[in-house]
Amino acid sequence: MHVHSRRGFLATTLGAAWVGASMLERSVLRAAQARAQSRTELPTLFDIEKVADGVYAAIARGRAIINSNAVIFENANDLLIVDAHAAPSAVHALVAQIRREITQKPVRYVVTSHLHGDHTQGLPAYRSIAPKADIVACAKTRDLLTEVGPSRLKAAVEAVPRSIESFQQRLGAAKSAQEKAYYAEMIAQSRAFLEEMRDVTVELPNVTFTDHLAIHDKAHDLHLSFRGRGHTAGDIVVFCPQKKVIASGDLLHGFFPTIGDGYPRDWPATLRSMSELDFEHVAGGHGGVQHTRQRLGQLKAYFEELIDIAGRARQEGMPLDRLQQTITPATLKSLGGGYGDYLTGEVKRLDVRVHLNTPAEVMARGVRDNLSAVYRNFDRA
Ligand SMILES: [Zn+2]
Repeated sequence: MHVHSRRGFLATTLGAAWVGASMLERSVLRAAQARAQSRTELPTLFDIEKVADGVYAAIARGRAIINSNAVIFENANDLLIVDAHAAPSAVHALVAQIRREITQKPVRYVVTSHLHGDHTQGLPAYRSIAPKADIVACAKTRDLLTEVGPSRLKAAVEAVPRSIESFQQRLGAAKSAQEKAYYAEMIAQSRAFLEEMRDVTVELPNVTFTDHLAIHDKAHDLHLSFRGRGHTAGDIVVFCPQKKVIASGDLLHGFFPTIGDGYPRDWPATLRSMSELDFEHVAGGHGGVQHTRQRLGQLKAYFEELIDIAGRARQEGMPLDRLQQTITPATLKSLGGGYGDYLTGEVKRLDVRVHLNTPAEVMARGVRDNLSAVYRNFDRA
């Protein structure tokens, strides 16, 4: 439908100009139109995999502007989809892929796990794809989106020209064909994002809850709950008891945690509360599906170790840069037993922004960012 509405766009808007154009001019216009059409063809941005019966994860492929995953719960007659990516075009691409690979059932609910743009900036697309769908979040996330959503969106778009400039500099200095192709692709994706986002505004959830909201579908029950602060002040999880799945947003996923907006000292208790749910499969906001519960305990232990280290450093008045010099991935017990390698492997596999970095660099940066965020947000009220 998207493609059809654009098909006649050129001839229609050009009107008299089209009628009066010479053969040569028309062929130039037609070529431009063909290029415009091929750009509107929807690329495959996700790999959809089955999590359990009637539950699917759409794992985001790496992009210059990172997209969240989506989790798709197939109800008896419709769909509940968790999270909405960085741009409306990603939602259009996902829904087209769902139609091709899973089902024609309509989207009935879109759940927003938290306010971040890589999970919410695509929401406006659902207003056109599924005008009657409810967009559901906890009240805190709606408040945050109302307060800071517009300025966050503006900042996200305004940061893109700077990153295009830095990609261009690195493209200029690139030695190998592989590096050149990589930076050229990052520039193309960033430009397309910038172009698309010019007129996009924040879409707010229209259904909110404080602690818990249950949806009783014929196919299964879906429990949406706020279990404490962590990645933000308003993260929620979606739990399906019959399928033993949680959609955990960015509270528990396959990448190093993002703590910049987070509450590091609340996060372990929130994970403990999540562990009370009887799940076997975890579909998080980033990285692959986890068919195990063990990552929850590993993440909790990682936080506890970072909190311990940052807390002692702060007590001793040690500045962050001094602390950073003493802590490396190898000094952290909680990254042992394969946990550090697991996180690094998931980032390397699915975050194209680190495509040219070595695993050791990815792990070192993950730890450095996490330690500084825990140190900085230690006493956050
Ligand atoms: Zn995210």
